[in-house]
Amino acid sequence: METEVNGSDNFGIETNPKPTFYAIDPSWYEDRGISFSHLLKSRHLPKCPNQQMGDNEKKKAKSKSPKEDSASGLKALQKCCSKQPGFIAAHMSSMESIFRVLIKVGIKPLSTVQIHEGVESARAAAGSSNRLTISVLEHLLQHQDTYGIRKSEVN
Ligand SMILES: [Zn+2]
Repeated sequence: METEVNGSDNFGIETNPKPTFYAIDPSWYEDRGISFSHLLKSRHLPKCPNQQMGDNEKKKAKSKSPKEDSASGLKALQKCCSKQPGFIAAHMSSMESIFRVLIKVGIKPLSTVQIHEGVESARAAAGSSNRLTISVLEHLLQHQDTYGIRKSEVN
């Protein structure tokens, strides 16, 4: 930003300086002993073979760390069902929809504006009349504590 800011005449009104970014943080789940990969598996569509794949009774290949498991689970879902039209369905809660919008991009952070667009367009496509405002979305993101979504620093 090389433009000089003349602070004398703006009456303290700031145009939203920087959008807030959020991203899924797999370590949030690891820290709590929650299997992120298992949670992701359940997000595949009912008919998807990936939902059944890998029974949870049998221990997966021991060489895989939870971190690798999370990463591959996220990538699998991202490449698979997150592209399907039913992935964000009309009946889902706003928080679940936000979570799924983030899954679509993996661990990449999205701004609240981008998340908002993602939820709105998915809901429109699903024929839902529910609408989410940016302020509600920001409120949800600031107060959620079950989805492992973290504020992310983006330059
Ligand atoms: Zn799938």
